Amino acid sequence: MFNDKAYPMVAHDEAPLNPQLSTGRALLSVRVKAIRREADNILTYELVHPNAGVLPSFTAGAHIDVRIRDDLKRQFSLCNAPGERNRYVIAVLREKAGRGGSMAMHNDVREGNLLSISEPRNQFPLAGQEAEFHLLLAGGIGVTPMMAMAEALEARRARWHMHYCTRNPEATAFRARIEPLIAAGKVTLHHDGGDPSQGLDIKALLTCYEAGSHVYFCGPPGFMSAIKTSVNAWPAHSIHCEYFTSSEENAELDNAPFQIRVKHTGDVLNVPADGTIVGVLRENGFAIDTDCEDGYCGTCITRYLEGDPEHRDSVLSEKERKSYVMVCCARAKGAPLVLDI
Ligand SMILES: Cc1cc2nc3c(=O)[nH]c(=O)nc-3n(C[C@H](O)[C@H](O)[C@H](O)COP(=O)(O)OP(=O)(O)OC[C@H]3O[C@@H](n4cnc5c(N)ncnc54)[C@H](O)[C@@H]3O)c2cc1C
Repeated sequence: MFNDKAYPMVAHDEAPLNPQLSTGRALLSVRVKAIRREADNILTYELVHPNAGVLPSFTAGAHIDVRIRDDLKRQFSLCNAPGERNRYVIAVLREKAGRGGSMAMHNDVREGNLLSISEPRNQFPLAGQEAEFHLLLAGGIGVTPMMAMAEALEARRARWHMHYCTRNPEATAFRARIEPLIAAGKVTLHHDGGDPSQGLDIKALLTCYEAGSHVYFCGPPGFMSAIKTSVNAWPAHSIHCEYFTSSEENAELDNAPFQIRVKHTGDVLNVPADGTIVGVLRENGFAIDTDCEDGYCGTCITRYLEGDPEHRDSVLSEKERKSYVMVCCARAKGAPLVLDI
């Protein structure tokens, strides 16, 4: 039985992105109960309520923000079974070339520490019960949300299969959890030794679409681009993905200056070719909450009312793009982009 020391329930996991929810989300304090080596350069962290209470519920595909230090916040997917209310489990890959978030998790966080985290948020939910088949494609650390999805799909008795691509067995996380699923024919492992041409044949796998199927993918940039270019036969509603880093395509795009208008003050502001909307807003005294500043975490989502935005995020759906922009990376053309702030 769960006791009364629960955090308030927040039931927005499956809801569309919403600026009120994505900024100023309540912070929770959790204790690091255990840290385990999961694979080469990957540690798992089991996080529990400090007074043995229950944690807010989550759905498969959700992530939490972890405040590693006051100036350092990173997102991590929940990889335990969504029904569990007594703990959150995250797995963190050490990124030697990163800005220090994963290194700080590996080097500074210890068992027994208290960590400040956000409530879970889900930008990568499973399709509903009407889906007839779920194809999960995981590359490297992108397996984390898929582990929760596999648990949820098993609980639903849904039809699903996961292809999990890693360099070698040593880099493969969750082996103990995955082995029975391999034996049951539900997970296939692919080791490419660092050469994608030796791994899963993504193009062949995605050539045909069967009505009722949904595909989910998460992994490093090369893996994501290979899937995006191979999934043309699948209708938009059946394609689901989550980026852990910004997409490779953004680096290639040219920037032109444009204007924004702040609806509530009427200010018209110039965004230069080498600037961002969020940078210009801050220079002019508007406080905007951001994390990744690269269009993949979803924190700075902002509603717009008029204008022609050029979206460069990896978070918003086509439907959401009709009303929202990610102000850390979006640009615009023509008349000023009117922001609802
Ligand atoms: C929704 C969501 C869920 C996530 N879940 C997980 C998870 O379960 N497990 C996990 O390990 N991570 C996860 N991440 C990623 C995680 O939040 C961090 O980004 C990751 O730990 C790396 O943080 P960092 O500060 O070490 O590196 P970051 O600075 O964030 O770098 C991330 C990547 O970008 C590259 N990069 C950074 N700066 C540059 C630059 N200037 N030029 C070129 N490349 C650059 C780095 O090589 C690195 O590969 C998730 C991210 C999101 C948005």
